Amino acid sequence: MKQFDYIRPATVAEAVAAAAQPGATYLAAGTNLLDLMKGNVSRPDRLVDVTHLDGLDQIETLADGSLRIGALVSNADLAHDAEFAKSYPAVAEALLSGASAQLRNAATVGGNLLQRTRCAYFYDTASRCNKREAGSGCDARDGENRTHAVLGWSESCIATHPSDFCVPLVALGAIVEIEGRNGRREIALDELHRLPGDTPERESVLEPGDLIVAVRLPPAARGFAAHARYLKVRERTSYAFAIVSAAAALRIENGKIAEARLALGGVAAKPWRARAAEDVLKGVAPTADAFQEAAWRALADAKPSGDNAYKIELARRIVVRALTLAAAGTPARIPALPASPFASSGAIHA
Ligand SMILES: Cc1cc2nc3c(=O)[nH]c(=O)nc-3n(C[C@H](O)[C@H](O)[C@H](O)COP(=O)(O)OP(=O)(O)OC[C@H]3O[C@@H](n4cnc5c(N)ncnc54)[C@H](O)[C@@H]3O)c2cc1C
Ligand code: SF4
Repeated sequence: MKQFDYIRPATVAEAVAAAAQPGATYLAAGTNLLDLMKGNVSRPDRLVDVTHLDGLDQIETLADGSLRIGALVSNADLAHDAEFAKSYPAVAEALLSGASAQLRNAATVGGNLLQRTRCAYFYDTASRCNKREAGSGCDARDGENRTHAVLGWSESCIATHPSDFCVPLVALGAIVEIEGRNGRREIALDELHRLPGDTPERESVLEPGDLIVAVRLPPAARGFAAHARYLKVRERTSYAFAIVSAAAALRIENGKIAEARLALGGVAAKPWRARAAEDVLKGVAPTADAFQEAAWRALADAKPSGDNAYKIELARRIVVRALTLAAAGTPARIPALPASPFASSGAIHA
């Protein structure tokens, strides 16, 4: 492993100044970053450890009803917060479907958002990868690409974003708070991750030194608690990334869908909000036909990037299933996994 400096700043301002230097990278729990460093995939000159910064580990409800989640809150603490699980069940379900209990105990909110792709060629330094080394080529294009992107990909890169957590967050209109060299700003999570285009090495809109300090769920996000699900298809029942996933959230009034939210995971370089599908669901009854139509709309622009045409049909079916489950009502206990710890927590949903 390459030698690097390690610093542990005392304040957010010090952290931002330290991380703005060339070659610097933030370190949170390190569950992704340290693996990449050990494999020589990431070679930072300096690690700026944010884990001891004050005030970034709080979950709080703001005066306007938004929920604000500090960037250092662990994935497990968030998923097991009873009030959180009750108000945002699909987000809790997504968190609990990710990684393993040990990893969720360590992994942070900020790190989950910025985890890197799981494309095998990205991790293999003997392979050509435009994301790891700009302009070097992409061995996934003609290689093993069954799990790669079907939406928003380019000839430069066909990788997907691996986060489960981001998928319902995008569906619910989450906002990301960022502290940078020019102070505090906020953006929609939907705008955080970039599609690859000709510059797949640039994965987000963050600038050097930008620190994610919190993620906010707007007040309207609570309105979907009664009809919200996250569905994840993977190659084994735990400890595996999504092949395809879907977060579906509905607000149903007088037998009609007043508002729908839908996002897909495992299909693109970013969590994929399906706005066209949301539009066709608004104002109609929650029927199988409506859900089929929404699924077609959601995947209308999809095309295989290799040996992965099956993903398009799979994603359509997952969308229909997630919408059907959401319409049936959020269960009192969420079966995120067989034998999920959540299944025995007795969480009750609105
Ligand atoms: C075996 C295994 C299985 C997994 N399975 C899943 C899965 O099924 N689903 C899933 O969603 N995830 C899965 N993960 C990924 C896991 O969720 C991530 O590794 C974890 O969320 C990263 O969080 P961290 O705090 O460890 O981040 P780190 O590894 O410390 O950092 C990750 C990246 O984020 C940056 N960063 C961290 N915090 C901030 C911040 N506040 N502001 C700006 N930049 C920041 C770092 O610089 C780095 O680039 C798995 C991981 C492993 C090892
Ligand atoms: S798909 Fe993207 S991450 Fe994978 S090898 Fe190609 S350029 Fe690299």
